[in-house]
Order: sequence, then C-alpha cells, then structure tokens
Amino acid sequence: MPSVSPEEHKKSVDFMNAINGLLDFVETIAPLIKEKDYVEQMDNLKMVYDNRTMVEIVNIIAQRVRENPIVMQNDARSRLTIKQKKVLTDQEKLKTGKWLICKNCDRIICKTYMNTHRENDVCRRVQDSKALAKDFKKLDTTRETNAISIIRAWAVKTHRHKFC
Ligand SMILES: [Zn+2]
Repeated sequence: MPSVSPEEHKKSVDFMNAINGLLDFVETIAPLIKEKDYVEQMDNLKMVYDNRTMVEIVNIIAQRVRENPIVMQNDARSRLTIKQKKVLTDQEKLKTGKWLICKNCDRIICKTYMNTHRENDVCRRVQDSKALAKDFKKLDTTRETNAISIIRAWAVKTHRHKFC
C-alpha cells in the first residue's frame, strides 16, 4: 500500500481544503448573483462560451480544477495513510546490508557515507585513540594525546608538515 510522509500529507490536505473551499465558494455564489448582473455576465459569457449557462461554466471550471494533475495528485496524497518514520536499531540497520560498522571508530555508518565519514575528525580521533591504547596498553591515553597535540602545534608552527 502506498504511503506518504506526515509533511507531504499535511501539505496535500491543506491544498485540497483550499481547492474545495474555493469550489464551494464559487458554487455557493453562482445562484445568488442578481438577475441583471447574471444577464449581463451571461451576455459576456455567451460571446466567449457560446450558449453555456453559468452553472455549466462553473461545473466545467470545477471539473477542470478537479481533473488538474496537481489537484489529482494532492487529492490522492491526502487520502494515503501516513507513514510512520521508524527508527531502526543498530541490529536492524546492519541486517539491511546498507549500514556497516566503521573499522576505525566502531560507529554504525551508512555504506554510501563511509568514505566521507572516515575523513571526519571524530572517526580519525577514535582511530588514533585506539592505536594509542594498543601501543601503550592502557585505556586512558589523554597524556599521550596531549603530547601529540603539542608536537603537532610545533610542526605547524615550524612548517614540518610530515608531523602535522
Ligand atoms: Zn569511523
């Protein structure tokens, strides 16, 4: 069964309410127009529409509006069931095959975003921390990380880019 997002659904319902409001308005005022005005406008319309009555013209306009592809699309959308956005668990993400665990930082990342992800600061820092933890055989590597930042600042300042 086709579904629609809550935002698209609301947009379509609002659109259809506006269209239906306009059509109701036109249908309501058509019989209330004064005889003199009606005759005058009929003469004008006769020139353009050749023997059609106001009611027929209103019906033709209403039918054309309802058959307009945009109106039909929004009308159909306004009747669709609203799709609930489901938040997947990590396990559900991995089962789809569209998500992978990043080997550098262990976060679950969308496959198509993985290359970009591995260039981000958080991923690289976690990778660095894991390497430090392994090399120094301890989990708290704040001292080593601080020492590296001092070396990097010195390298930047003295243009030794291979240490940056
Ligand atoms: Zn990562």
